[in-house]
Amino acid sequence: MRALTLVADRQLVVAAVPPPPPPGPGEVQIRVGAVALNHIDVWGYRGMAFAKRKLPLVIGAEASGEIAGVGDMVTRFRPGQNVVMYGALTCGICRACSEGRDNLCENVAGIMGFHVDGFAREYLNMPQRLVIAVPEGVSGRDAACAPIAFSTVQHMLFDNAGLQPGETVLVHAGGSGIGTVAIMMAKQIGCTVITTVGDDSKIAGVKALGADHVINYRNDRFEHETRRITRKKGVDVVFEHVGADTFNGSLLTLKRGGRLVTCGSTSGPTTTINLMQLFQQQYRIFGSFGATLRNVAESLDKMAGGMHPVIDTEVPIEDVATALRRMEGRQVFGKIVVYF
Ligand SMILES: [Zn+2]
Repeated sequence: MRALTLVADRQLVVAAVPPPPPPGPGEVQIRVGAVALNHIDVWGYRGMAFAKRKLPLVIGAEASGEIAGVGDMVTRFRPGQNVVMYGALTCGICRACSEGRDNLCENVAGIMGFHVDGFAREYLNMPQRLVIAVPEGVSGRDAACAPIAFSTVQHMLFDNAGLQPGETVLVHAGGSGIGTVAIMMAKQIGCTVITTVGDDSKIAGVKALGADHVINYRNDRFEHETRRITRKKGVDVVFEHVGADTFNGSLLTLKRGGRLVTCGSTSGPTTTINLMQLFQQQYRIFGSFGATLRNVAESLDKMAGGMHPVIDTEVPIEDVATALRRMEGRQVFGKIVVYF
């Protein structure tokens, strides 16, 4: 069978690999249909010195597929059913796992597609515990964006930042994969959304998703514009994933007691912050990574209710390297989905 394999930094090949054995007890075999790309794939493609992993590595951190077979003691699934997979190999028994805080698992054995082989292959076996059924009416293409893109945002905005209806939120990079989702999820509960884009060509797209105010950060300083838009009150929540270029500006846009939630540092990982400002303004800063199994189900429910991911492009696996380079260059609006 075929697998999209990283053999060296920036070298992806479609390799022939042996198919998995029949699914063992408690396991299902999944035929992968669609893989959605994320920034974690760009990090992996570029190479990361600190990441413990061995090449060659099958890439793909979020995907959807169909149950192709079930092992003994599998009760929740039957062949033909559409599913998505949770991509972190959690233990299922530690305190965090048993409390449903899966992304804080104490014994996680790696993130699929980054530390260990991922989803960009035709078949794989998974423990049924890490598989989530896709509701009726949700396409395989949309479902592929549930485990990371939708779930990361669900976890950031609601579990961490505690976003409430009617609040004002600044969403950085509104045209990015997670930015588009953040706009839709915040608007769905009646928030006011201010967002940034780096190119005027993305303004119409983010407005169509419901953004109330759009700032081109290349033309205007977003922190000044945000304070002007909010009449100097500031926003309740900032949705951060840009990092060094924006972090301090993001803090400046918060109202007293405001919350900043971040899941990324695309522009660089280090910054200095003013601690007096931090405690005097009583900011709350949340680091967020991944999501819980419950967040994946919540995301799929939102899709079943009509919230569709914005798809930038759909490409065959042979074109993934080109797609990853477009993501690196921030030329993408929404998600890139790869098909076998
Ligand atoms: Zn655990």
